[in-house]
Amino acid sequence: TLGHHHQIDHPAFRAEMLRIKGERVARERTLDVFDPYSGQRVGTVPLASVEDVRDALQFAASYRSKLTRYERSQILERAGALLRERTEAASDLISLESGLSKQDSRYEIGRVADVLKFAALEALRDDGQSFSCDLTPHGKARRVFTQREPLAGVIVAITPFNHPMNQVAHKIAPAIATNNRVVLKPSEKVPLSAYFLADILYEAGLPAPMLQVLTGDPREIADELITNPAVELVTFTGGVAIGKHIAAKAGYRRVVLELGGNDPLIVLDDADVELAASLAVQGSYKNSGQRCTAVKRMLVQKSIAERFTEQVVEKTLAWSYGDPFDESNQMGTVIDEPAAQLFEARVNEAVAQGARLLAGNKRSGALYSPTVVDCVDPSMTLVREETFGPVSPIITFDTIDDAIRISNGTAFGLSSGLCTYRTDAIARFVNELRVGTVNVWEVPGYRIELTPFGGIKDSGLGYKEGVQEAMKSFTNLKTFSLPWE
Ligand code: NAD
Repeated sequence: TLGHHHQIDHPAFRAEMLRIKGERVARERTLDVFDPYSGQRVGTVPLASVEDVRDALQFAASYRSKLTRYERSQILERAGALLRERTEAASDLISLESGLSKQDSRYEIGRVADVLKFAALEALRDDGQSFSCDLTPHGKARRVFTQREPLAGVIVAITPFNHPMNQVAHKIAPAIATNNRVVLKPSEKVPLSAYFLADILYEAGLPAPMLQVLTGDPREIADELITNPAVELVTFTGGVAIGKHIAAKAGYRRVVLELGGNDPLIVLDDADVELAASLAVQGSYKNSGQRCTAVKRMLVQKSIAERFTEQVVEKTLAWSYGDPFDESNQMGTVIDEPAAQLFEARVNEAVAQGARLLAGNKRSGALYSPTVVDCVDPSMTLVREETFGPVSPIITFDTIDDAIRISNGTAFGLSSGLCTYRTDAIARFVNELRVGTVNVWEVPGYRIELTPFGGIKDSGLGYKEGVQEAMKSFTNLKTFSLPWE
């Protein structure tokens, strides 16, 4: 979608500008942003050049924040309050550029406010430690202390499309709380929400060098963002292929990667089937199924599979979808038409290989209906790869060993959900699933914004996010010792 399109623009059309060097700057070349539902153009954003990237990094690198903990906390508090006041405008913008339903985008604003709240609280908390040194026969009358320092270099943050504002908040807020400087490149599919959040932070008092936002063509500017000597850490959320490319490019600098997922909801034969099916459809269809931690596979023990599948189909058919701005719709569109076409093709392929379509697989533009397929084999592309949309593939299993093997049988290792009351089974899954999170009687995506979150295997290198962990990865721990007990 580079260049200009000749069609009617949306009434809320906005021509955005870069936020670099404390200024709003336009550029000759721009990128169009479309409403996936109507196809109307909702905005343009400038295409930053490599020179713009260098300027932004230089501006950030030459600044050292002297904000106190109190001041940082206040900025984050004020930003949270401003955002809550503007919930409708912010949620409208998310729905407009992403096609997410108003129900989903309002929920997202609540999450962003939580991120700001937790970062404001954590900014006040000093997790420095103190160790006595007289612990062994060769001990001394000394004490070792730790304290955290912001990075000397700049943090580059690169974010995906699926939570247009919350992914951005999870990178920026912990950076502010730790007195760092960030250059953000949001997803070119949903850049407007990122500019909106940045403006709220400036209004709340954030010094301009602590946050700059630029949009552009990744093929042109991504390498500079990753390899410029001013950059000390790259924090990336997005797909596996680009994440691994960044890791390879980054060389001797820190990389925090939150990549794809292929999360199971595992249902054992003792489960409350109705409750399990409710969790299954919520996990599968909320946010149009576009969550790294969406339920992407439903693993069900054979003896209850029929009852569970009936319930999932019933709840799927009742899941309303369509116009994102129709408040009664639970689900809007997916991100764009090619994404919807991909889900359709994968479901068709699975059906051709013996799976059974029980509901959905209807597409119109970027609208794709909630879809259920059973008789799915773990080898099918639909479940072997990450299918990043509202599809519920049902796979049956006999034993707990089988469930663990199937669950661990993809390249991913992000999160999981488990429906059983058996403590022996719970213990086995918690210990044996190769994932970052196990949620018992919850969707894999359940979290609070404060707590450690992130995956292993192809889902990430094991460094977690969540406000508290992000603050750790955005700081250097200084150790010092003093000559007293
Ligand atoms: P994507 O990987 O296509 O894009 C993510 C970002 O990378 C965008 O900002 C894009 O502009 C940028 N990019 C593109 N090419 C680049 C390059 N060569 N170098 C550096 N950056 C480049 O991902 P997406 O389609 O926007 O998001 C969906 C993916 O994100 C899914 O796989 C999903 O599972 C994953 N995700 C993971 C988490 C998590 O926390 N683990 C959370 C949300 C989404």
